[in-house]
Order: sequence, then structure tokens, then C-alpha cells
Amino acid sequence: MRAVVYDRPRSFAVQEVERPSAGPGQVVVDVDRAGVCGTDLHLHEGGFFAAFPLTPGHESTGVVREVGDGVGHVRVGQRVAVDNASACGHCPECSRGNHLFCEDFLSLGVNAPGGFAESLVSPAHKVYPADDLAAEVAVFAEPLACAVHGMDVLGLRPGADVLVVGAGTTGLLLAQLLLHGGAGRVTMAAPTAFKLALAESFGVDRVVPVTRDAEATARTLAALQPGGFDVTVDVTGAAAVVATLPALTATNGTVFVYGMCDEDARIPLSPYDVFRRQLTVRGSFAQVDCMDRSLAWLRSGRIRTDGLVTHRFPLAEYGTALETLRSDPTSLKVLVDPTA
Ligand SMILES: [Zn+2]
Ligand SMILES: [Zn+2]
Repeated sequence: MRAVVYDRPRSFAVQEVERPSAGPGQVVVDVDRAGVCGTDLHLHEGGFFAAFPLTPGHESTGVVREVGDGVGHVRVGQRVAVDNASACGHCPECSRGNHLFCEDFLSLGVNAPGGFAESLVSPAHKVYPADDLAAEVAVFAEPLACAVHGMDVLGLRPGADVLVVGAGTTGLLLAQLLLHGGAGRVTMAAPTAFKLALAESFGVDRVVPVTRDAEATARTLAALQPGGFDVTVDVTGAAAVVATLPALTATNGTVFVYGMCDEDARIPLSPYDVFRRQLTVRGSFAQVDCMDRSLAWLRSGRIRTDGLVTHRFPLAEYGTALETLRSDPTSLKVLVDPTA
């Protein structure tokens, strides 16, 4: 079968590899849509916890090709959504309930072969029936699951006034969860008009066109709301944006670091301000147990994905897919279609 294979950072080829087979407790899925996201740009550079050689792709849906012994909850031919993340269940972190920080964390598309391939093999319990969903809805199960985890760790107070900076796919999914999860008002700031229009169509209360200049953006937002927001969320993954958020956060509020910044990025932070105004800085890392709720949101139709998919590429054009995500202002969710 064909797969994207990196032998080292920034060096990949679409090549023939051996198709995986399903061992006991495993499922092989023929991938028909796999989302490209900012994490893949980090992996391209060798960041995050990439293990090479690597076939990336952590947002996968497709059709079951083969089930291993002991697998009864999915059948061959059925559409499934794949949760790329699994915890071992018995390391010290797992043993104290920290499955997300498992010392043997398996992450398809990060440290094991993922969905930018014609087929992938997954632990069976991480494969979720989704034959009631279209492929281009089911493909959002993983990124939405990460947003569900974000809601878990944020612990939003009902009625909170929330600012989201950035309107990429992740921001548009998280903003909808914030709206449904009790926010009193969601304001979204981003530079791209069509993304803000989509945000409005999804129910975001207030959209603010800004530039890519983080400090100018902060001045605009501070003027808009001098008292600050109860929760300020970065979904851009730009440290320069995160750096502006404490000052935009209301007293007793939370700075929510949702986007993934570069590992070596640093921001200035006033410990006095954190102390005096009792600020919380909270992160949200991936997820490992939110797929069922993500799929429930997608099934309900309350979390909308219409308009999010802007580009589709065959495996052979993976490089173009990455470049589109990185630099094409008309892109939101970029998909790879390994069947094309
Ligand atoms: Zn992702
Ligand atoms: Zn573990």
C-alpha cells in the first residue's frame, strides 16, 4: 500500500510499504479521510514527540478492512473514527489516573504509523463505529475530542465571557463547545474574514477582525473590553499571542493555552499580576478519553462542521497539503484522501 513516510524531519516520500494486518485486539482501517493539522507542521520539523521513521496522520476515518481475534464491536465494511491516542493502563502515571501522561503513550501519527496511508492498524478499543456519519463529519471526531478535553480541563463557569484568538478549525470547534458549554458570550478575533463569517454562522456572538500583529490585536481587544475577559483562549499556537493574553484577562480569570506553541518559545509573564489579580494559566494537551462525547456532539448536529473542509489532496500531494495548511489564507481543514 502507499503511505507518507518520513525518514527524518522535513524528509518524506509517498512510498510503497507493507500493509498492516490485524493482530488480536486490533483493527485495520482503510483510511478514506485524514485531517492535516498544525501538529503535522510541528511533526514535519521533528517537534512534539515524533518518532522516525514516521507515517503521520492522527485525525483518521475510514472503513474497517480487518478485525483481529476478540474484536466484536465493529465489523468489516463499517465506517469508523479512529482515536489515535492510547494509554498503556499500567505505567505509574496510568496507575494514578493520569492516562493522558502515560509513560508509554501510543499516538498513531506521532510515534506510530498514522492515517496518511491507505490503511492503518489501531487498538480495537480506539476504533469507534461511525457509519451514521459522513466521512467528512467523522474526520472531525479527533480534533473535536481534543476540544472536549479542553472543556474538561477549563471547567468553564456558566455565563463566563470568553475571548478566543484564532479562527482555525480548532478554534471554530472549541468556540462552539464554549457556546454550548455555558459561555455567556464568545468573542472571536482573527485576521481572516471568511473564517469569522463561519464563526458567526456557528453562533459566535461577536467577531473582531484583527491583523497578524499580536500587539496591535491586543490593543484592539483591550479597547473593545477594558475590563478584560473571564477566559482568554489562544488557539493560534503563537507565543506572541499568548504573551498578550494575561493583560486581556479579567481579574480572577483564566488564560487558556490551547494551541501548541513551539517547544522553545518563551513569554514574559508578571508573577505579581498573576498573584495580585489571581490569574490562572491553564493548558490543554490532546485527549485520550473524549471520543465518545465528541461523536455524540457530531451526531447531535449541535457542533457544526459544514464549511470547515476547504481542501482535499491525494496522498501523492501531501507536501502541497502541508504547504496549503501552513500558508494558504483560504484554507481551514485540509484533508488527505488516501483513496484518491
Ligand atoms: Zn490534530
Ligand atoms: Zn501508561
